[in-house]
Amino acid sequence: MTDKNKKSIRMDYQAIFKKAYHLMDEAIIAGNCGERCGYHCCRRNDGDGKRLGMYLLPLEYEYMQSEVVTDYDLHRHQDYNMPPKIKKYYYIYCHLANGCLRNHRPIQCRTYPFEPHLQNGVFSLVIEKEQIHGCVMIRGLSEWRQAFIDGVYNGWLELLKIPVIKYHIEYLSKERIVANNIMIRYTSNGYDHPIKKDIG
Ligand code: SF4
Ligand code: SF4
Repeated sequence: MTDKNKKSIRMDYQAIFKKAYHLMDEAIIAGNCGERCGYHCCRRNDGDGKRLGMYLLPLEYEYMQSEVVTDYDLHRHQDYNMPPKIKKYYYIYCHLANGCLRNHRPIQCRTYPFEPHLQNGVFSLVIEKEQIHGCVMIRGLSEWRQAFIDGVYNGWLELLKIPVIKYHIEYLSKERIVANNIMIRYTSNGYDHPIKKDIG
C-alpha cells in the first residue's frame, strides 16, 4: 500500500469516528442520569478498591484519544482473553485532575448501557444481563430519549464500516451468545418481542 493510500484510509477512519462521536452525543434521558445513581459507571474503584477504567475500541486511541488520554494500561494476549486478531486494547482511566473528559468521552461512555451486537449478520443493540455497573436506567427504559437510542444505533452503524471494529463486535457477540448474556435487544424494528419495554 502506498503512503498516499494509507493517509486516505487514516482520514476515512477519523471521519467515521468523528461522525460516530457526534451521533452518540445525546443524553440518555432528559436531565442528568448520573444524579440518580451517584455516577456509578464513572467510579474510580470497584467495591474491593480495584482501580476501574474502560476499554477503547480498536483504533480509537490512534484516531480520537491520543491527544487526550495520558493514563492507560495496554492489555495484551499474554495476560488477557482477547480476540486473536487484535494485538492490544487500551484500558484508560478518565479521572485525571480535570475529571470527566465529557467532550472527549470514548464510545464506551456514549453507548452504555447498550452494547453493539451482531448475530447472523444482523446488527442490534443489546443490554447484557451481567452488569458491572447495574445502571439504574435499565429499569426505566420508557424514559430513554429516542434521540439517544437512534444516535447510538446509527453511530455503531458508522463504526461497523471499520473492519477491525466489526471483527471486535462479532467476536464479543459470539461470546455473549454462548454465555446467554442478553437481557434486552433493540433492533431496527424496535425492542424485540417478548421483551417488554420496561422491566422494572
Ligand atoms: S450507571 Fe446508568 S444512570 Fe448511572 S451514570 Fe451511568 S448511565 Fe447514568
Ligand atoms: S469519561 Fe466521563 S462519562 Fe466516561 S467514565 Fe469517565 S467520568 Fe464517566
